[in-house]
Amino acid sequence: MDIQDIKQDLRLSRLLESYGLHPDNNNRLCCPFHRDRTPSLQVYPETDTCYCFSSNCQTHGKSIDVIDFIMYKENISKHEIQRW
Ligand SMILES: [Zn+2]
Repeated sequence: MDIQDIKQDLRLSRLLESYGLHPDNNNRLCCPFHRDRTPSLQVYPETDTCYCFSSNCQTHGKSIDVIDFIMYKENISKHEIQRW
């Protein structure tokens, strides 16, 4: 399976669900990548990306797609994902 396959098969919403993460009605959720007390991770279902608005976050300033999300969550590199 290569990255393109993962991107095509895996919707961000499905991925979030598999991690037990449920965005609120505004498509926001508490960011799993930093200590987050108020939801600062905005999910964009149309593009299957999300973005964390906290400057304390390791992902801050970057748009996170499905692959990035798995990388941050599992702490693995793009190279390792390609070997899946
Ligand atoms: Zn964050």
